[in-house]
Amino acid sequence: MSIQESLTKVNASLPKNVTLVAVSKTKPDTAVKEAYEVGQRIFGENKVQEMVGKWERLPKDIEWHMIGHLQRNKVKYIVDFVSLIHGVDSLKLLKEINKRAKKSNRIVNCLFQIHIAEEDTKFGLDRFELFDIIGSTEFAQLEHIKIVGLMGMATFTDNTNQIRKEFKNLKSLFEELKTQLPSISTLSMGMSGDYRIAIEEGSTMVRIGSSIFGERIYNQ
Ligand SMILES: *Cc1c(COP(=O)(O)O)cnc(C)c1O
Repeated sequence: MSIQESLTKVNASLPKNVTLVAVSKTKPDTAVKEAYEVGQRIFGENKVQEMVGKWERLPKDIEWHMIGHLQRNKVKYIVDFVSLIHGVDSLKLLKEINKRAKKSNRIVNCLFQIHIAEEDTKFGLDRFELFDIIGSTEFAQLEHIKIVGLMGMATFTDNTNQIRKEFKNLKSLFEELKTQLPSISTLSMGMSGDYRIAIEEGSTMVRIGSSIFGERIYNQ
């Protein structure tokens, strides 16, 4: 199946209120262009250098989402154009994004990444760390970031009950956070292998790579 056919198929399986982030990491510009030609405008990357290169070379109406772990010293390279940062997992990182965004005269949209998986390899905050940040006076002073919701990755497993449970936990944390930050609206959960479950559990944004662009050569 071609990229365009796969993309059409994925789109047909998504409810209208769910936003698709086409995860183009490791894939060439030509792959992004194919998806772009049939209307896809939101793409996700997990490496700063790769995202910057694609942003420079590809059409400027593409919205670039940083979905990977972001190091503080690399924020400056993406702050001028990134449209959503999915992986915010510390106040330090948030402060750096705020500082750079202020210099660029921008307000940068961010999601807090929450650790929901059993594996400890995945990044993210737990609920206590999340509410610590939200309640801090420093957080209240950040005027150049906008928290628009939460992101999480489920355990990599065939056990769908496990995956469902983790997505349910994230959804309930999202609802809890909403009582303190009423404007949040984005719940980024679900990848190629588990996005159907994620949608059933309340996802509003799915990040799908291999089901659109094919398997990646490098496992990342
Ligand atoms: C690579 C990646 C995806 C997409 O994974 P697929 O299984 O190819 O759909 C989604 N989210 C994050 C954070 C990723 O790093």
